[in-house]
Formats: sequence, structure tokens, C-alpha cells
Amino acid sequence: MKNPIVEVVKGFGSLLTGLRITLGQFFKRSVTVQYPHESIQMPARFRGHIELVRDPESGKPICFACKVCEKTCPSDCISVEGLKLEGEKRKSVSEFRLDFTKCSLCGSCVDACKSGAIRFSRDYNLASTNREDFILDLFKKLETEKVVTEKVATEETKP
Ligand code: SF4
Ligand code: SF4
Repeated sequence: MKNPIVEVVKGFGSLLTGLRITLGQFFKRSVTVQYPHESIQMPARFRGHIELVRDPESGKPICFACKVCEKTCPSDCISVEGLKLEGEKRKSVSEFRLDFTKCSLCGSCVDACKSGAIRFSRDYNLASTNREDFILDLFKKLETEKVVTEKVATEETKP
């Protein structure tokens, strides 16, 4: 027969062990965030969907719609259109459609673009129940971001 006093002492020891572990965790630095109220900066090697890159001098997209990435993509998820603007030597991208439902994030398009006009974004906020939300026009997205950035800059310079 088990000694009840020994059992109580054992139980108390077990309780203290549990409390020690809980308190140890309680004072450790938190590694989680209160998503979606808080967000984190993803590391450089993170692969979100691809995005267009701007020329730092002109502010325009580097892409000139050569379609190399479109032909390289093994999943057929890129479609690029371009326009020849007056006075320009080569085309400028006017539509860059990405069907992210088919993208495997393989990186072939990024490697194929020798102009560095596309890269992986760090965007991870893509949850949706609507398939259409994953069909992205990256050119339109870039232009929208530009308008928002300019609006914020204007607001910030206001007296
Ligand atoms: S992203 Fe690069 S490879 Fe693709 S169309 Fe534009 S310039 Fe060409
Ligand atoms: S990462 Fe791969 S699958 Fe995705 S768009 Fe680029 S080439 Fe296509």
C-alpha cells in the first residue's frame, strides 16, 4: 500500500516543478506577436509573392515587358504587357499579372530577369477565401503603393 504522506510530498514536488517551468517561461522574452494587430518584418531570405522593383533614380518600374520571366515560369502564372511611350527607346510595363494560386515560389522568374526588375516580396498577409484575391496585377499594386507613399509624404510635410 502506498504511503499517503509520501504521495503528498511527491505531488507537492511535482507542483513546484511545474511552477518553476511556468515562471521560467513567464520572464523569458516573448517570441510571438499579437497578429493581426502587430506584424513583423520578414527576413531577407523570406519568399513572398514576386513584386516589381522600381528604378531608384526615375522611380519607374525597371521592367520593360520583355516577357522572359513569362516564358520561363514553369507554372504559367505570369502574363506581362507593355507599351512603347513617346520618346522612350523601349517598352514600359503596363500590366504584370501574377496568378499566385499556381506559383510554387521556385524563383526561376527572378533568376531569369537579368535586369533585376522582379524580386520576392516579404508580404505574408495574403489570407483570403476568395481565389480572385490571389490574381495580382503587380504593376497596379506598385502604382497604388506609390500614390499612398506620396500621400503620406505630403501629409508629413504639411505644417
Ligand atoms: S520582369 Fe524582367 S524578365 Fe520579366 S518582363 Fe520585366 S524585364 Fe522582362
Ligand atoms: S516563382 Fe516560379 S512559379 Fe512563381 S511566378 Fe516565378 S517562375 Fe513562376
